[in-house]
Amino acid sequence: MNDTTTAGTERAAVLDGTGLARRIRDRTAAGAAELTGRGVPPRLAVVVATDDDGAAWYVRSLSGAAGRLGIACDVVDLGADADAATLTGTLTRLSADDTVHGIVLQTPLPDGVRAEELAALIAPEKDVDGANPLSAGRLAAGLPAHPPATAAAVLELLDHHGIALAGRSAVVVGRSLVVGKPVAQLLLHRDATVSICHRHTKDLAEHTRHADVLVVAVGRIGLVRAEHVAPGAIVVDVGTNTAPDGRLVGDVDVEDAASRAGAISPVPGGVGPVTTALLLEQTVRSARASPGPR
Ligand code: NAP
Repeated sequence: MNDTTTAGTERAAVLDGTGLARRIRDRTAAGAAELTGRGVPPRLAVVVATDDDGAAWYVRSLSGAAGRLGIACDVVDLGADADAATLTGTLTRLSADDTVHGIVLQTPLPDGVRAEELAALIAPEKDVDGANPLSAGRLAAGLPAHPPATAAAVLELLDHHGIALAGRSAVVVGRSLVVGKPVAQLLLHRDATVSICHRHTKDLAEHTRHADVLVVAVGRIGLVRAEHVAPGAIVVDVGTNTAPDGRLVGDVDVEDAASRAGAISPVPGGVGPVTTALLLEQTVRSARASPGPR
């Protein structure tokens, strides 16, 4: 494993994501500057229709990160009571706008609005967070596609730390379209033997204990403890939860699981920063591939 620090004697190593994120941000900023010089300033649009605090925090942080890398970020805030017609019109307009290279449809969405139907309106080449069902289908078919940035970040983190995947047993806990399913697809494309667990899985630990690589994306504090982890297993914690004391924590009880795991990704500082960096890098790639002047 590269770039991996050890949390303590005979304790799990730390799969740090901050150094990797910095590296991705550096090359993204260089790409953005080059494109801007050629008259194609990269531009991301984030469509918001919620007053959820967590979403607001994420959008502010994404917009700030984009600005620091030289990527314009338009936050299109339609209000929490936006209807399907307004969202449809906005996504259609942005998809047709040649100066926009990436589109993110922020969740949650207003009640009664179907996320998948709206995401289908995002032009596939601008679907930098892999939300369009077409992107999911292409990913499943093994065709070139934008995977959701979080799923891509899990694989980048594993690669960065030199974790081999071919022939290894991988278990993904969670089956959302945003994380669980695309992570499972990406692991499968890398020749891991993949199982997916969810709410209805009987005896979760019985499954997860067989994992060489365990990816947890649920949203439940302390779901995964030592009893869920095989000795020496690699654990990627995608969960982001707010603890009662206000701290950001993952789904893994790190204190407990670190006594058995070989390595664990921290929260914060693991998958999260890599996700944001990859989403912005994808925006620059889309700008480079766009029909504007190059
Ligand atoms: P989600 O849509 O709510 O999906 C959660 C999944 O966990 C579902 O598939 C659910 O199963 C499963 N699940 C719930 N309770 C379970 C249990 N007791 N045992 C096993 N599986 C269980 O959430 P999400 O959008 O995938 O996000 C998951 C977590 O990742 C959240 O904490 C979120 O904040 C975090 N996240 C982080 C990033 C990042 O960049 N770091 C990005 C996105 C999400 P069912 O399908 O059966 O209901």
